[in-house]
Amino acid sequence: MWDGVRVLVETIRRRAYSVTCHRKSDNKCRQAKVYVDPAFVGKKVYVITDAELSELKKRLESLDAARRFFAAILSAEAGSRMFNIVSRTWNPVTGCRYNCIYCWARQLALTKLRSSPRYRHGFKPRLNPEEFRRRFKPGEVVFVSDMGDLWGEWIPSKWIRRVLAHISKFPYTWFLFLTKNPDRYHEFIDEMPENSILGATIETNRDYYFQEGYYPRIAQAPLPSRRYKAMKTLRWPLKFISIEPIMDFDLDTFTNWIREIAPFMVYIGYDNYNWRLPEPPLAKTHKLIKNIGDFTLVLKKTIRPAWNETLDPYTKVPKIAGKA
Ligand code: SF4
Repeated sequence: MWDGVRVLVETIRRRAYSVTCHRKSDNKCRQAKVYVDPAFVGKKVYVITDAELSELKKRLESLDAARRFFAAILSAEAGSRMFNIVSRTWNPVTGCRYNCIYCWARQLALTKLRSSPRYRHGFKPRLNPEEFRRRFKPGEVVFVSDMGDLWGEWIPSKWIRRVLAHISKFPYTWFLFLTKNPDRYHEFIDEMPENSILGATIETNRDYYFQEGYYPRIAQAPLPSRRYKAMKTLRWPLKFISIEPIMDFDLDTFTNWIREIAPFMVYIGYDNYNWRLPEPPLAKTHKLIKNIGDFTLVLKKTIRPAWNETLDPYTKVPKIAGKA
């Protein structure tokens, strides 16, 4: 069969048509006969090769994936502990050194999973070569490295390149990244496969929760202001922000940060694990949701009163984390 045939057979008047085709192998034109079903008489018909048809099918699958992706987002339910658009997780790299006090992944690694070879040495960052045997279906949304931070500054570039090379083999699957170090996205932006969704966690606009002297220090991750700057200057169509677990913030500043970053979606939710974080009052969170909802898609997760709003002031003394 000749390659590259893409011929518009004009409005069909008879069943057999002669068309001129271009053969790639010797760059010569050939005549071919095309037979059309009588059902097409009176209609315009395109003739395409098997190869083109298969490419077209893939594109349609991809479009369908995008449709399902956004449909899933729009139907996301509040209260889920996981990104509810995610069909599966994939952990080619695990472990993290940011030591967030609320990290459920580290907790899991040090308790339930502690006898697994992967976590024998605790939550130490490591590459898991066996994960590169994994295959992914078109339309899936895969959360990459939810058991660590793939973009931490300690991760060797070759590990990241290996992950990007693997996901390039699955152009019709979506791969969702989430980090507290979005500076590293910039380093790989020219190599980033188009099906990557780049996210950053920014729990608040207040840097001091993350600085020494604040007790308990929330994490040793890059400060929120640094994450904001990295996301704001990142040129990528599918950016998202996770404000989870939310911490108290300055309404106007935080709203402006998110506006300037211009994410296509924002996740927002309170801590699910009772870490007694410095949470904002519920009414303030509602104002933030309203502000952000004016310019982007907001997906609400666990939305509830702050833990210290629910305590009886006469029977319990709230332990609010504060500056040391
Ligand atoms: S950045 Fe993520 S994986 Fe790392 S300690 Fe914090 S919550 Fe855990």
